[in-house]
Amino acid sequence: MKYCSDCMRFFEGNKCEYCGNKKLRELSGNDPVYLLTQDTVAASGIEDILKQNGIPCLKRGMIGEGAIMKLGYMFESYQFFVPYAAYEASKELLSNFL
Ligand SMILES: [Zn+2]
Repeated sequence: MKYCSDCMRFFEGNKCEYCGNKKLRELSGNDPVYLLTQDTVAASGIEDILKQNGIPCLKRGMIGEGAIMKLGYMFESYQFFVPYAAYEASKELLSNFL
């Protein structure tokens, strides 16, 4: 499996399916990989579930602070990333929640 460190996603093949990057490397268990995107309300629940299960996660806002000031937090959504080693377990945990 190959890994694109720009998108933090993994896939088969030699070119990133998301950004076209060709400078890929082999996926390793410590690499953060994209898990899912959720809105502000669900995001806090997801963070709790992962934390309670000892899975470190990275959370990245999609629209950024400037837009939040105008639109409010309800319009923000978050991308979640977890280490690849914990990817399957995370999906499993969250399948009950979502
Ligand atoms: Zn990419």
